[in-house]
Amino acid sequence: KIPSDSPIIRPINKGSVHRICAGQVILDLPSAVKELVENSLDAGATSIEIALRDYGKESFQVIDNGCGISPSNFKVLTLKHHTSKLADFPDLQSLTTFGFRGEALSSLAALGSLTVETRTKNEPVATHLSYDQSGLLVAEKKTARQIGTTVTVKNLFSNLPVRSKEFSRNTRKEYGKLISLLNAYALVSKGVRLVCTNTTGKNVKSVVLKTQGSGSLKDNIITLFGISTFNCLEPLSLCISDGCKVEGFLSKPGQGSGRNLGDRQFFFVNGRPVDMPKVTKLVNELYRGSNSQQHPIAIMNVTVPTGACDVNVTPDKRKVFFSDENSILHVLREGLQQIYSSSNARFSVNEVE
Ligand code: ADP
Ligand code: MG
Repeated sequence: KIPSDSPIIRPINKGSVHRICAGQVILDLPSAVKELVENSLDAGATSIEIALRDYGKESFQVIDNGCGISPSNFKVLTLKHHTSKLADFPDLQSLTTFGFRGEALSSLAALGSLTVETRTKNEPVATHLSYDQSGLLVAEKKTARQIGTTVTVKNLFSNLPVRSKEFSRNTRKEYGKLISLLNAYALVSKGVRLVCTNTTGKNVKSVVLKTQGSGSLKDNIITLFGISTFNCLEPLSLCISDGCKVEGFLSKPGQGSGRNLGDRQFFFVNGRPVDMPKVTKLVNELYRGSNSQQHPIAIMNVTVPTGACDVNVTPDKRKVFFSDENSILHVLREGLQQIYSSSNARFSVNEVE
């Protein structure tokens, strides 16, 4: 529609801006839980429990034994762009935490009902905090708790009609995506015990994922996927350049998984689970050259100097820009070709079985 007069430009009301932006940080259930798990990891937790009610639809809770939140932070905890991890833009260059944008808790407050229970080592008791949708602290009371933090979100998306309907319709699908994402965090988190439970309407609680907090990727793979899966994998270690390498595990030729494409494929940059479409495509393409009937399991971490990659591309930080992605792809192609394209690697699935 073309306006007849030049319309007046005015600021969008603050609360509405907040709701518009919050929906970009928290896209769905998996991204909501991911933010909380990352916060727990950033807080140095060695034990993290994710407790879902009705597959996350009714509520989800992340319980950690990290450093806790000090009382001086209670009022600013859920304010947009308030963070303890980054103060100035140049800090991004040397960032080692998952979070840095100070948007997760403020977004979750805007999109659901948020409460926090926390205690640091300096406090004799814990505090239970309730926030309203604008991130304002509305109630505070003392409670009993060990050192650490519990964040609870109820009724996610209840005030975003389309998203809420989508969530109801796709509850199981989002739950599946969440478990896969938690697998990624469970794989890379060394020395962190991770448990996820789901409680259904009839108060039946089941453990859906559990790791022991082992110190190695190998142990985490065995715990999550079993020793027989691990035995089908081949370690991968490629040097790209000074300070830049690719490491992980990949299906041996002919011993892939018959599951869907993308299932059990995990990509990380400096230990951060991310999407790397070009790397993913390359791995699958080269694997298919030696085994057209299965998909590879792939668990790959790309290590680059923190200044050589940019994770601040999308609010959910799943996308990464590299300063030299071509070198990574080039070395990876050559390395994978050696594994998959050598003549003895040309298996058919039947020969292997
Ligand atoms: P960011 O992680 O980008 O800093 P968040 O909104 O996720 O932003 O969190 C805001 C701040 O709250 C964090 O910087 C951190 O200081 C604190 N915080 C959040 N979750 C926890 C937690 N589980 N344990 C300790 N501190 C936390
Ligand atoms: Mg965060």
